[in-house]
Amino acid sequence: PMSESASSAKKDREGDGPEYNYLFKYIIVGDAGVGKSCILLQFTMGRFRAEHDMTIGVEFGHRFVEIDGQTIKLQIWDTAGQEAFRSITRAYYRGATGALLVYDITRRASFDRLAEWLVDARQNAQPNMVIMLIGNKSDLERREVSYEEGAWFARQNGLFFLETSAKTGQNVGSAFMDTANQIYENLQAGMF
Ligand code: GDP
Ligand code: MG
Repeated sequence: PMSESASSAKKDREGDGPEYNYLFKYIIVGDAGVGKSCILLQFTMGRFRAEHDMTIGVEFGHRFVEIDGQTIKLQIWDTAGQEAFRSITRAYYRGATGALLVYDITRRASFDRLAEWLVDARQNAQPNMVIMLIGNKSDLERREVSYEEGAWFARQNGLFFLETSAKTGQNVGSAFMDTANQIYENLQAGMF
């Protein structure tokens, strides 16, 4: 049976807001400061905030996308500070069909912690959740993690992989869309 978030709910029951064929829930995880909130803001609003401002920590965002002639609402949950505990609650993962696991290519420590984030995800998420590994801040020169290291970690763990910049917007759309396309494929294959 389909999970609630991947259901084929034809339209918003309340009658307000645009109609959609599918609702995909995404969550964004990773260490504090890697750029999760900026990625969400860039994807949903097309904006970037340079200052480190905790108030940009919008907890939710959404955007409508089209796949295969279907309208899909991507509902995105930001961690908004909970990453300090590094153990996200089961409720946060409930119904999520996509996850963006983010590290900062200029901060090795955020890359070294990926394994812990993966354990957390594997323990709490549904089995076929699609995980996109993201090496963010690709616009910066001072890099501590090579592209190859990111790609290798992704390959070892069966994750998709992209380097992004929430600042320039590079690959941000692709990160969400590649994930959505895979979720859609899994859905057609009856995996949710
Ligand atoms: P979060 O704690 O993971 O939500 O991280 P934030 O989204 O709050 O970003 C942390 C800091 O990194 C902020 O000062 C952002 O302006 C900065 N930042 C985020 N993404 C990028 C990026 O792609 N490039 C650059 N240069 N800075 C970024
Ligand atoms: Mg944040």
